[in-house]
Amino acid sequence: MSSATLPPVYLDWNATAPVLPEAVAEMLDVMQHAWANPSSTHAPGQAARRVLADARARVAAFLGARAAEVVFTSGATEANHLAVRGTLAAAREAGGAHGARRRLVLSAVEHPGLMALAAQLRREGTPVDLIPVDRQGRLDLDAAHALIGDDVALVSVMGANNETGVLMPCAELAALTHARGAPLHVDATQLAGKSMLSFAQTGADLMSVSAHKIGGPRGVGALLVRQGQALVPLLAGRQERHRRGGTENLPGIAGYAAACGRTAATLADDLAAMAQLRQRLERGLCARLPGTVVLGGLASRLPNTVCVSFGGLDADAVLTRLERAGVVASSGAACSAGGTQPSHVLLAMGLDEHAARSGVRFSIGRDTQAAQIDAAIAAAVRAIEPLRPDLPRTAPAAASPADAAATHAA
Ligand code: PMP
Repeated sequence: MSSATLPPVYLDWNATAPVLPEAVAEMLDVMQHAWANPSSTHAPGQAARRVLADARARVAAFLGARAAEVVFTSGATEANHLAVRGTLAAAREAGGAHGARRRLVLSAVEHPGLMALAAQLRREGTPVDLIPVDRQGRLDLDAAHALIGDDVALVSVMGANNETGVLMPCAELAALTHARGAPLHVDATQLAGKSMLSFAQTGADLMSVSAHKIGGPRGVGALLVRQGQALVPLLAGRQERHRRGGTENLPGIAGYAAACGRTAATLADDLAAMAQLRQRLERGLCARLPGTVVLGGLASRLPNTVCVSFGGLDADAVLTRLERAGVVASSGAACSAGGTQPSHVLLAMGLDEHAARSGVRFSIGRDTQAAQIDAAIAAAVRAIEPLRPDLPRTAPAAASPADAAATHAA
């Protein structure tokens, strides 16, 4: 269990996870006992340096990477920016005046921070192409084939979509990208802790991760950089082998290492439990609320994420009513929530503007219990029935969510 105070039913783990007590304890310990600057040559500095090396090794082990491949950053947003700008700049430096690889290729469903960077790069003159997805949110590999030519400096895709949980075909894309002589960056922010992630096995040359999605603190993450991959730093300086300047956030990094260890210890069991709970939730919602559609439901997805449209009802209206009933979920990415903007992910999947405002994302975590899933289903029924006069009323003595699941399965 985590030490954080959560709402009764917290189903927004893709936005962030409560900080683990192990992470808090390790951060406090480092702040009290390893407070020195790891670059200092005196004894306290060298002690802090050892703490940093130990944390780096633990984060690397969790991610299936080598310690030297880990560049600590302030989170996945910075890691994404470093991967993209750093690789484009390196290609420019390597290419000389003529023939430089300049083009950036992304999927159409990247995280809003990366989409914003792409818009910025376009304004600066970098050609950017987006690989489309199909109606289930699956990457169109034929289109990727056509778009990735030998003028490409970098291909960047997320390993799993934060809104729908749909998985991207990283290995196929790596083969395709490498055949054209370009590197692949994978934003694996949502893969860590929700899959058996291994940097070595993805085939990616660069990979972004974030501590707070697995119970570490906010403001810490990493870019994994394959040995030999050219990269120009965003922040120049000696730290992180000249790949990211600035005194290291040692408490945050130690907290991240603690969260990695805790996550690894129960990962296989947690993945299986989350998958069962997700199925219980999907089946319950579909059985109790006719017209409910699981967006990306036919695609391979993360075990913890389900994005549903309740017959096209506006997601914000549903979420407000759910929260009143003690159930916290999200509409699309938390970063773009609060506005009435349709989700760019759902638009890319071919939904119209109205339907693209209807996606309600439930994301499950290691602490989620079956009773909370049942409470969420019951709350959704109570929240949605008044908004959908077309639905048959559920009698108070209606089937339990478990019965409904069985009916749905049959
Ligand atoms: N990429 C993805 C896929 C994400 O889900 C998030 C978090 N919403 C980020 C990047 C940004 O991570 P951070 O909060 O560490 O900057």
